[in-house]
Amino acid sequence: MLRQYQALKARYPGALLMFRLGDFYELFFDDALVAARELEIVLTSRELGKGRRVPMCGVPYHALTGYLARLVERGHRVAICDQVEDARKAKGLVRRDVTRVVTPGTVMDATLPQREHRYLVAIAPADGAWGLAAADLSTGDLFATHIEGPEADRRLEEELARYDPREVLLPEDADAGSADRFRLTRVEPWRFEPSVARRALIEQFRVASLEGFGAEDLPLAVAAAGALLQYLKQTQMSALEHLRGLRVYSTDDVLALDETTRRNLELVRNLRDGTTAHTLLSTVDETMTAMGGRLLREWVLRPLVSIEAVGVRQRAVAVAVDARAVRADLREALKALPDLARVIGRIGHGSATPRDLAALRAGLLRLPALRADLARLPESRLAELGGLVDPHEAITGHIGRALVDDPPATARDGGVIRAGYDDELDRVREAATGGKMWIAGLEAAERVRTGIRSLRVGFNKIFGYYLEVSNANRHLVPADYVRKQTLTNAERYITPEMKEREAAILGAEERMAEIETRLFERLRQEIAGQSASLLETSRALAEADVLLGLAHVAERWEYVKPELVDDAVLDIRAGRHPVVERLLQGERFVPNDLALSAAERALLIVTGPNMAGKSTLLRQAALITIMAQMGSFVPAAAARIGVADRVFTRVGATDDLASGRSTFLVEMQEVARILHAATPRSVIILDEVGRGTSTYDGMSLAWAVVAYLHDHIGARTLFATHFHELTELADLLPRVRNISMQVREEGDQVVFLHTAAEGRADRSYGIHVAQLAGIPDEVIGEAKRILQRLESAAARPTEPEAARLPSRARPGRQLPLALELPSPIEEALLGLAIESMTPLEAMQTLAELRERARALRAGAHDRQERRLQ
Ligand code: ATP
Repeated sequence: MLRQYQALKARYPGALLMFRLGDFYELFFDDALVAARELEIVLTSRELGKGRRVPMCGVPYHALTGYLARLVERGHRVAICDQVEDARKAKGLVRRDVTRVVTPGTVMDATLPQREHRYLVAIAPADGAWGLAAADLSTGDLFATHIEGPEADRRLEEELARYDPREVLLPEDADAGSADRFRLTRVEPWRFEPSVARRALIEQFRVASLEGFGAEDLPLAVAAAGALLQYLKQTQMSALEHLRGLRVYSTDDVLALDETTRRNLELVRNLRDGTTAHTLLSTVDETMTAMGGRLLREWVLRPLVSIEAVGVRQRAVAVAVDARAVRADLREALKALPDLARVIGRIGHGSATPRDLAALRAGLLRLPALRADLARLPESRLAELGGLVDPHEAITGHIGRALVDDPPATARDGGVIRAGYDDELDRVREAATGGKMWIAGLEAAERVRTGIRSLRVGFNKIFGYYLEVSNANRHLVPADYVRKQTLTNAERYITPEMKEREAAILGAEERMAEIETRLFERLRQEIAGQSASLLETSRALAEADVLLGLAHVAERWEYVKPELVDDAVLDIRAGRHPVVERLLQGERFVPNDLALSAAERALLIVTGPNMAGKSTLLRQAALITIMAQMGSFVPAAAARIGVADRVFTRVGATDDLASGRSTFLVEMQEVARILHAATPRSVIILDEVGRGTSTYDGMSLAWAVVAYLHDHIGARTLFATHFHELTELADLLPRVRNISMQVREEGDQVVFLHTAAEGRADRSYGIHVAQLAGIPDEVIGEAKRILQRLESAAARPTEPEAARLPSRARPGRQLPLALELPSPIEEALLGLAIESMTPLEAMQTLAELRERARALRAGAHDRQERRLQ
């Protein structure tokens, strides 16, 4: 056995080998040490070979899934080794082999998140270009793309962020580049050879060329997809019948959203706890099926850029909004569907259970009605999807004939195949039933024959069927009874005829299990052969579900259909933040208008007090753009949206402690990316950028960034800031405008109106917000005094600054440089009446000032010295 183990172990280097022994999967040697630690199970040892004790640990076979999930979640690869021949028929050692290798990217079990795809990605690198393929093994989805051009590296990074893969395959000799933050699996480079990869795909799809998939001219995409497929086949040891096609796409077809933007806008995960609660996804997700839920997530992460393609979705949503009754029926019917894609995935993968087939049948049986309802809708993508829904009557018929109504979890247990489906099975079953009936009648018959009223027929695993007679009646036992077992107060017997019947029954049961397994497998394979068209139906249903869900949301929350145009405009009337409006309880969300156009109002500087709603307004603009390009309706009274090629969102001074980079460095790296990547068609949201450093540095940078965006890019930009100096840019640059969030002062109180108006704000009310936050009165009082002094000092007239540099502080406006008190020298200088001085007085004053400056310098020096000591 040790030799068998070691031979298998050698074939799967880098994987933990789980070796089936009886009712356990055992791990040995170093694998045992790793597994015991990761799974918190007891480490034992076992004698293997000649007197050698080796470390060992194991898990019960029926609990494999949970343990496996834990190991894989922690990044291990696990080779599952099973007995591949019947132990009873084996001569000598039972043959064992690895039946599949589970890796982080190839998990298939119940631990998969239901409403999220799990992708395995392969990357084929080349000079200045990349091929990328992504597969979800559980649903048979396989995508590939070719990425090149000056933006190639960034696009690759964005694609990786969208797929968020659990595992990335790379050729052994390749540089990982931006993929190095994912779990990498190195694969032999020859598997990425375009010819090898192409052959693997052609064989899998049973086609003569990849022309039909639009992949023939994209060798890098083919290389990645082919390598991915080979890896899946190698690890799964399955025909993967559900992987029957490749969807080639171009990254140019989707609205680019980098990872920071996706995170900051909380598209599919919130920043607080990483769940979907309070995300854009959760606010538009009214899907009824798991397939629909997964597809909607993809739509949120991949909004479109083609007006025509978005229009198709919009029309369908509009149709569904109007067709209220049919929509309700359809949604009700969808709700009853199982996760068809994953059921079909398991069937194609070879891991389906009888219950999966029953679920498939139940689901398919609902489709004729669903299809008819979709066809009732006016012409639209929804009606078209109705045409793509195929109820696969032959399959439901076959499953119905073959399978019992409520099958057990595994085919091995028997009782899966319906009577009348297979002659041989029926015959064997009859034999078993006949035998069982004979045994059932035996008790009564023997009681009469022997006169023992308490005689009992029983069964146990070791002795089989027996007759039990209590000690008191032992003298009545007939001569043909053979004693089998002695208990304290009874004896157990068998008769030769019983033994014969028993052999027949047990033989028949074993035979039944064999036949049932075979029949089930045949049925599964037959359905697996139809995977491609079944998955097409499942995809059509998922899309219908998403569109109907979006219509439901649109109606329920009074969204409107946005008009998508080719100009770089963003014109939102009475827009709302889709997430915040739902969070407000007992308060009304105040809608706001917003108008931007690359030609005239490209950049809006948004000022206003803390808590006034600046961030909300900014995000709302980005979210409405994304929703519009997804094909969704939007929370507004009307919206005209110029299709964006990219949406960027940056928030100043976000912590990125996990990556070990300073917050300000991260902030600047992100801004740098925008300045390099934004185009006149982009939408940019900058929220308090420049705050992560000293005031002057930050403000100067913010100023220069806005000027650069204005002069060189012209993208629609919203810049929220507390640097009120930036509002001066509106006077200097033609396409910069100011808007500010309004407040009303009522005595000592400040009321946030949450309305945006043209113009600049002159105060931040930070102290007021600090008071709301519970800062002690003493601190608030002192802060107010300092602020007053600062403001009165700044209130004296200064020369307006020349050209495009920020003047320090304007009269009556809040001074942002909060800690920089005017020096006594400055105060004295500002107080001089030079006009009325004689030259001598002027000289004297100058000398005095020099003395005071010297004294100040000496004082500062002393303080510094004291600090240093
Ligand atoms: P800061 O400058 O402190 O970052 P801010 O101006 O960016 O503040 P937000 O964070 O956008 O302010 O908003 C603060 C809170 O005000 C929100 O959490 C929300 O509860 C409320 N709010 C924002 N906009 C609106 C609105 N239009 N209608 C109603 N409530 C709103």
